[in-house]
Amino acid sequence: MALRTYQQYLESLQAMRPNIYKFDRLIEDVTTDPATRRTVRGHGWTYKHYDDEKYGDLLVTKSHLTGEPISRYLSLIESAEDMWQNSRMKRAAFQMTGTCTGGRCVGWTALNAMFITTYDIDKEMGTNYHGRLLDWLKQAQERDITVAGALTDAKGDRTKTPSQQEDADSFLHIVERRNDGIVVRGAKLMICGIAAANEIFVLPGSGYKEPDADYAVSFVIPRDAEGLTIVETRHPSDTRDEEDGFDNPVADGGITQSFLLFEDVFIPNERVFMAGEYKHSLSAVLNFIGPYRSAIGGCVAGQGDVKIGAAVLTARANGLSAKVFQDKITQMTINNETTFGMGIAAAAMGRKHPSGGWQCDTVLSNVNKVHVATLPYQTNILAQDIAGGIAETGCMPSYKDFTSKKYGHLIQKYMKAKASAESRARAARLVEWATIGAGVPGCMHGGGSPDGAKLVIRAASNLEDKVAHAKRLANITEDIQEPVKKK
Ligand SMILES: Cc1cc2nc3c(=O)[nH]c(=O)nc-3n(C[C@H](O)[C@H](O)[C@H](O)COP(=O)(O)OP(=O)(O)OC[C@H]3O[C@@H](n4cnc5c(N)ncnc54)[C@H](O)[C@@H]3O)c2cc1C
Repeated sequence: MALRTYQQYLESLQAMRPNIYKFDRLIEDVTTDPATRRTVRGHGWTYKHYDDEKYGDLLVTKSHLTGEPISRYLSLIESAEDMWQNSRMKRAAFQMTGTCTGGRCVGWTALNAMFITTYDIDKEMGTNYHGRLLDWLKQAQERDITVAGALTDAKGDRTKTPSQQEDADSFLHIVERRNDGIVVRGAKLMICGIAAANEIFVLPGSGYKEPDADYAVSFVIPRDAEGLTIVETRHPSDTRDEEDGFDNPVADGGITQSFLLFEDVFIPNERVFMAGEYKHSLSAVLNFIGPYRSAIGGCVAGQGDVKIGAAVLTARANGLSAKVFQDKITQMTINNETTFGMGIAAAAMGRKHPSGGWQCDTVLSNVNKVHVATLPYQTNILAQDIAGGIAETGCMPSYKDFTSKKYGHLIQKYMKAKASAESRARAARLVEWATIGAGVPGCMHGGGSPDGAKLVIRAASNLEDKVAHAKRLANITEDIQEPVKKK
């Protein structure tokens, strides 16, 4: 089996040990539970459209290992074109589901990061991690599983390294090394799409030095591994009634994040891809953020497409032409295409790593992260501006009131504008969803903070090259040194 059907995907999730909780309640079936079913449906969109005329080429590619058709989410990114397809697929996924499919994309990026990193570790240290990764990848492709990705540790005091923390478990770490594997303890927080995932790919969250060698750990585990407890986080829709017809405008999407609590979890050797090689932990992270920060421009562009469409629909329902808001809509389009195009540029300016993987341009992908943490918020402001007060939280009656036998007809009478009250309400709710609610995942911190990206930009921006150009053009021969900071 290389490509699963949607039904097979659902069955694979149902067959897993229930280990996900929310509101102190065990979720027995993630495919039907109100807390998780929509994230499953959102991720399931990809399984439903493998044969689709429009999306099939984006969703399916050829395995570099077997030559068989596989999900793109389990492929090796080998070229700039593979990266463009990554951005295009994420944009399409957002347009179709209204939200993020991070339970597939973060794991995909993680496995690509470790494809390159394990090659480098093996070359330097004579280990056999790369072969293990390929063995795992081959069977993951054959089973067509959904793989989430987990980097973010609990972190404790942000000014301290892992081994300096009061609580050694603030960062996920190895607590025991056995002949047949390792045992890990700690947590990974805010991880996307876990309820929709079959497996979780774990990476170090930062670069480490020798005292923190036990924190330099990477592996992949089944989502229901023994010793792993998962807690779904709060969500904007939690405060609303699940029965409320307007509160679930996007039937086939809704991302969730989770806390992963590892209490002495055993990982067999064949699933371990880094276990103490601290010198390579930073490159694992850098190999992750390159493609991630490039392609996230596609996600937020797809999200922005939905915001534009929803805002224009609301305006039209109000009786106003899109032309009235032309400048605002143009600005929203500029914002979308800036992040999308920047991601494509980061891919195009990348280079081939000796392992065969593709590395995006460091400066461009990190510049994109900063745009992603800025422009979608401006787009939100414009969408809400266009849509009017009913798109802001708390300004529209609930669906139950809207359909009340007692006064529903009055609410509908006064909510009617150019279009029917119901269409107007649905369009406005989609604006609210896309700009305030579940439709705004990860622009600021997903894939790391913008300040972290600025650190990388500063380190990689070749300031002295620019100074040398200016010096030559200005015909300056004097040696003008950077002033030494007074102690
Ligand atoms: C919607 C969403 C989805 C996510 N999905 C995933 C996922 O699927 N997988 C995953 O691994 N992670 C995921 N994350 C987590 C994300 O990677 C982190 O939120 C991000 O790396 C920032 O870490 P933090 O939240 O702990 O913030 P913090 O590290 O607490 O940062 C907060 C602020 O403090 C600054 N700061 C932090 N440390 C220092 C310091 N020492 N000195 C100066 N300034 C500092 C940061 O730059 C930032 O401005 C997700 C996050 C979100 C919001």
